[in-house]
Amino acid sequence: MAPIPLLDLRAQYQSHREEILNAIERVLDGMTLFLGPEQAAFEREFAAYCGVEHGVGVSNGTDALNLALRACGIGAGDEVITVSNTFIATVEAISLVGARTVFVDVDPETYTLDPNQLAKALTQRTRAIMPVHLFGHPADMDPIMAFAREHHLVVIEDASQAQGATYKGKRVGSIGDIGCFSLYYSKNLGAYGEAGVCVTNSAEYASAMRLFRDHGSRVRYQHEIIGTNARLDEIQAAVLRVKLPYLDGWNERRREHAATYTRALTGVVSATPSAQPWAGHVFYVYVVRVADRDRVRHELEAQGVLTGVHYPIPCHLQPACADLGYARGDFPVTEAYADQILSLPLYPELTAEQIETVIDSVKHACAPSEARAGHN
Ligand SMILES: *Cc1c(COP(=O)(O)O)cnc(C)c1O
Repeated sequence: MAPIPLLDLRAQYQSHREEILNAIERVLDGMTLFLGPEQAAFEREFAAYCGVEHGVGVSNGTDALNLALRACGIGAGDEVITVSNTFIATVEAISLVGARTVFVDVDPETYTLDPNQLAKALTQRTRAIMPVHLFGHPADMDPIMAFAREHHLVVIEDASQAQGATYKGKRVGSIGDIGCFSLYYSKNLGAYGEAGVCVTNSAEYASAMRLFRDHGSRVRYQHEIIGTNARLDEIQAAVLRVKLPYLDGWNERRREHAATYTRALTGVVSATPSAQPWAGHVFYVYVVRVADRDRVRHELEAQGVLTGVHYPIPCHLQPACADLGYARGDFPVTEAYADQILSLPLYPELTAEQIETVIDSVKHACAPSEARAGHN
């Protein structure tokens, strides 16, 4: 059998090829490549999907976070609380506006921001909290929002790994002041290039983000503020419009595959993913914890099962974050998990046969060493 990849983008493209090519052709026939009808329509459609008023298409997820922070007036001298257990872009966005990242540890069940850690991270300079809905699982937003409101902080959700996920029935991205999504090609909703989107119920934030993304300009060659170039291009917007109506169905299939994995692997691995009653999980990745992770990973690879590690080095221990002054031991849950986590192949088009192969391979790789030696 062919190796089973962590993610198979060709499978999705093959099943929607014609619609996608038609959409790209429509853009090229019109030859409006930026700030045109596709972006405007995608913004409306994605905002409606999330149940919010405004959508602002941007060039990628990092810029989405960056523009959201800028729209909230966050900059030099300000502090933003987020998790070390995230992709580095969350931290980059904070640094890019000149603010300082203050890390907190994650909840051991959900891998997302632990609301109980907020109080000790709060200072006079704290302006915002940036929870990350990691792996497709929402952060526990109610206590985060309550803390933020009590201390007059804005909440910017990094929903880059959770397009379509829900928290107590509400779409992630619609709960905080601004929700930010990467639409990078590997995400549950992904462009064929770079893309991102911000959603908000605030007309003021939406208008500020629109101004920033297009060189601080509303009228051509008149620049009200120093902005940047962070526009969503029309080809990507058109592709995203084709894909958006399929997102819920794709997420449903991800959940079904995840449930099959969890039934088979509970008790085999040290931990299967959390299933909080309030969480509509969309399984951007399916992450288990195993002892001896690197050995297990190599054995799976030898059996044609390709896995990932999201992420092997927590942000606070990255050289890029050295100036923030953190050290090993600061965030015990994040650090312990970095050595144990393993992402198994998961995408909507995964077949029953592939799922069986993954399960058998994981069972074999996680069996006690005597049992493994007797097998091949
Ligand atoms: C993918 C991702 C981003 C960054 O998105 P880009 O589109 O690659 O800039 C930010 N935060 C998280 C949690 C992500 O997974």
